[in-house]
Amino acid sequence: MTRLVAGNWKMNGCLAANRRLLDELVVEAGVEMAVCVPFPYLAQLQERPAGLVLGAQDVSEFEAGAYTGEVSAAMLAEFGCRYVIVGHSERRALFAEDDLLVGRKAHAALAAGLTPIVCVGETLVERDEGRAMAVIGRQLGAVLEVLGRVAMARVVLAYEPVWAIGSGRSATVAQVEDVHAGIRGWLREQGVAADAVRILYGGSVKPENAAGLFALADVDGGLIGGASLVAADFMAICRAEAGGV
Ligand code: PEP
Repeated sequence: MTRLVAGNWKMNGCLAANRRLLDELVVEAGVEMAVCVPFPYLAQLQERPAGLVLGAQDVSEFEAGAYTGEVSAAMLAEFGCRYVIVGHSERRALFAEDDLLVGRKAHAALAAGLTPIVCVGETLVERDEGRAMAVIGRQLGAVLEVLGRVAMARVVLAYEPVWAIGSGRSATVAQVEDVHAGIRGWLREQGVAADAVRILYGGSVKPENAAGLFALADVDGGLIGGASLVAADFMAICRAEAGGV
């Protein structure tokens, strides 16, 4: 399967800064390189480096209609998005998105031909209480309930421990190895074609730690926040994923 490194720009950027970043980006061979940008910039990203894949950071669970402020999956598809992040921990924590809503958003994305990048992950309290895998199982279970086994194999998963996001403190190689193997095993137990599912790691990935994380057997790529806003860092991380560091 093609390995994926997706940048999550979050609510950052402006037309001029985006242009500068795009001008510096060179797409690495051997890895799928994507950027998930704020909705208004999808138009600007119609012109982008060859091979750079486009994504968004959220999507409505609804198809169309009287849902002020929402953006549908069909609209994202029309702008050439291949991916859309759903269930990012910032949306779960700050915008009260629950597990089933995340499942319904993943369903809406798939129905429009997009691939959802479904984020899961535990808080520090949940990890300290030994509940990391139970929490992730609950989050995944809701998505499976909505999608069913066959469609579940078509999503990309991103393990993003909440405490590692934007904190500068990545999970350790051992922690990532453990959870990724746990997620793959969980999928298998549920009868999902687990080997077809790409499982990304996200949380303070930097050029310095990327190679170690990406070398792990069950890590199929990365979801990159802060470092994706610096062209040299994002390219170095993509190179690490492509095995070129
Ligand atoms: C993210 O927000 O998905 C993320 C992984 O952020 P960062 O890389 O900045 O920790």
